[in-house]
Amino acid sequence: MQNDKKDDLGNIKKLIKKIQHDYPQFRVIEGKKFAFRPPKTIIVGPFAPFCELTLLHELGHALCGHKSFKLDLERVKIENEAWDKAKALAVIYKVPIDEDYIQDELDSYREWLHKKSRCPKCGLTRYQTIDGLYHCPRCENFT
Ligand SMILES: [Zn+2]
Ligand SMILES: [Zn+2]
Repeated sequence: MQNDKKDDLGNIKKLIKKIQHDYPQFRVIEGKKFAFRPPKTIIVGPFAPFCELTLLHELGHALCGHKSFKLDLERVKIENEAWDKAKALAVIYKVPIDEDYIQDELDSYREWLHKKSRCPKCGLTRYQTIDGLYHCPRCENFT
């Protein structure tokens, strides 16, 4: 088990090196949580299972030029896009693709969106306007 863990860490370090070499326009730094911080910083860590795939996902965000988003629906869309990109990158970098892991990650965003869009008063699905606010078609009156 110990050896496996060491190998994993070696793999992720190698992958970070390769990515820094192939994409010098991005900066890879170690942090608490994997993330892409536009315009060019990729934060990596912790080095848990599937971290290589997660790194490719964040690189996917970077390569797709994802910036901030106002609508939660856009968030789900860009997560999908970043995973599509990650899968293509995984073939190039020979990182095993775990569909279950990817679907779980996407599900957590879908669930988050579902929860957020539910009207707390009546349970109906609300819609979000460009200002980021949610509106319930049943509970809100428009004049
Ligand atoms: Zn993402
Ligand atoms: Zn309502």
